[in-house]
Amino acid sequence: MISLDSIRDKVHSGERLSFDDGMLLYRPDVPLHDVGALANIVRERKNGNVAYYNINTHLNPTNVCVYRCVFCAFRSDLRSDKGYLMSDDQILARGQEATEMGATEMHIVGGLHHQMKYDWYAHLIRLLHEAFPRLHLKAWTAVEIDWFSRITGKSVRAVLEDMREAGLNSLPGGGAEIFHSEVRDKICEHKADAGRWIEIHRTAHGLGLRSNATMLYGHLENSMHRIDHLIRLRDLQDETHGFQTFIPLAFHPDNTGLSYIKKPSGLMDLRTMAISRLMLDNFDHIKAYWIMLGIGTAQTALAYGADDLDGTVRHERIYHDAGATTPETLSVEEIRRLIVEAGREPIERDTLYHRVERSEAGWRTGELVTAP
Ligand code: SF4
Repeated sequence: MISLDSIRDKVHSGERLSFDDGMLLYRPDVPLHDVGALANIVRERKNGNVAYYNINTHLNPTNVCVYRCVFCAFRSDLRSDKGYLMSDDQILARGQEATEMGATEMHIVGGLHHQMKYDWYAHLIRLLHEAFPRLHLKAWTAVEIDWFSRITGKSVRAVLEDMREAGLNSLPGGGAEIFHSEVRDKICEHKADAGRWIEIHRTAHGLGLRSNATMLYGHLENSMHRIDHLIRLRDLQDETHGFQTFIPLAFHPDNTGLSYIKKPSGLMDLRTMAISRLMLDNFDHIKAYWIMLGIGTAQTALAYGADDLDGTVRHERIYHDAGATTPETLSVEEIRRLIVEAGREPIERDTLYHRVERSEAGWRTGELVTAP
């Protein structure tokens, strides 16, 4: 008989939680505080008292997109006034700005612009890599890799090899949304399905590329869909060990086709963070992405399973278009203050979770910081 006590025993002994365990933890009569306390045990077991952040920037080269995901406020039609396409000079200026502010990572995702050829997408990676070779390029979700494969007829493996040769260093975790077809078919029926998303990350991991994973929650899904999603990710991680971080993404409804839905509450955010930490026993890191959660909830999440706040960010458009009211960037001092105030020790990391050491001469990466 599953109960909170039986789950507590499993957590203390390091035993894996089942689908039914996850479902019970989402029940409203199970106190959030208890779920958070269990998640905190796993969080501290894996990462001690440390909380990570990085210095990063975002680049969304275009918002023109052939797809019409119902939850998306970022995309634009080709002829809309909102549509844009960045020039090489604009892209290089972003790289220059990132380098000057000491960023170690550029996060690159965007729309699927049907008039731009595959070569353009590879070109902009090469452009940035050649001009700023120290900047880690975390680029293209599995949905974009799938699109490149479709428009060229190349295999996923060949696309990933092309991009890696151009300078791509790792993959972000976007495009996962909710895997279960009961939901996915309603919110993004045309783009890469769950099997394809998983196949692309499996192929990337096989090539030695690390990636992240996400889950967009708080729209049409229920707890069964969320637990199913987490277990599919856990299964792939058992197989490849290629995921670095899991990022639960809170849905923002403004300017989307689901604007009638209320955005998830802080309580739901914290419960999902904690359950993610508990279910994903083979993920080293769980990230509280402050842009979507809000600064206060992200800071609180450091006691509910999260060990990473993401970064300083800058030029974030995707969630701000959907009504995120968080600032566009946080200073290093502010992020460190938030972490210290939460009783944790701040450590700057690079994308691959090496400690970053800074001096007047610049920055360099130190040892891997995954294990305490
Ligand atoms: S979520 Fe991505 S693929 Fe879907 S419409 Fe928005 S930009 Fe396009």
